[in-house]
Amino acid sequence: FFISFEGPDGAGKSTVIQELMQPLASQTGQQIVVTREPGGSAIAEKIRQIILDVNNQEMDDWTEALLFAASRRQHLVEVIEPALAADKIVLCDRFVDSSVAYQGGGHQLGTDQVAALNDFAIQGHYPDLTLYLDVPVTVGLQRVQKLGAGFDRLEGQKLAFHQRVRDTYQTLLAANPQRMIAVDADRPLALVQQDCLAIIKEHFQA
Ligand code: C5P
Repeated sequence: FFISFEGPDGAGKSTVIQELMQPLASQTGQQIVVTREPGGSAIAEKIRQIILDVNNQEMDDWTEALLFAASRRQHLVEVIEPALAADKIVLCDRFVDSSVAYQGGGHQLGTDQVAALNDFAIQGHYPDLTLYLDVPVTVGLQRVQKLGAGFDRLEGQKLAFHQRVRDTYQTLLAANPQRMIAVDADRPLALVQQDCLAIIKEHFQA
């Protein structure tokens, strides 16, 4: 069972994922694999380093989108697919929807084109379920600032950029009602976790 977690910056994906591991493992009896791109794949990691390198300021937006898709494919083939084949539950922090939201919407490359690029890269291997942790842009950015996140080439984007990212996520949500479920992440962690667990259980049994 393949579950991705999506959301704007500061939605709390990684914290929620950590909190879900234990209860999911005990409730399903299955092994849980938590991963995020590049997911410990040496090749995907090298690709990602090129994307994040502060020295690569001249990088073209489409080059960035292509590299994200390449890194994603390597992570899929090397990490996610073997785990699924071994009947593990995979919790993945960001996947294709991030590219559609950030590169397609945020950088305005076009959501359809970025989705098409990623369709090619993952060849239909979409998550079974995507939990979209929704948080207003200003709330999310405040949380990120509090954490004092490290700087890389992709950070420090303007408010309008993040607003486009969130708007794109909401469009994706409306277009993919079977796969994507929204969770209001502008609430205490325990409540967000509770909702995520309930949604996963429901889909798992279906
Ligand atoms: O998951 P996290 O919130 O740590 O994401 C780190 C950053 O990576 C995001 O803020 C975003 O700027 C960037 N990103 C991106 N395109 C993707 C995935 C992530 O721009 N496809």
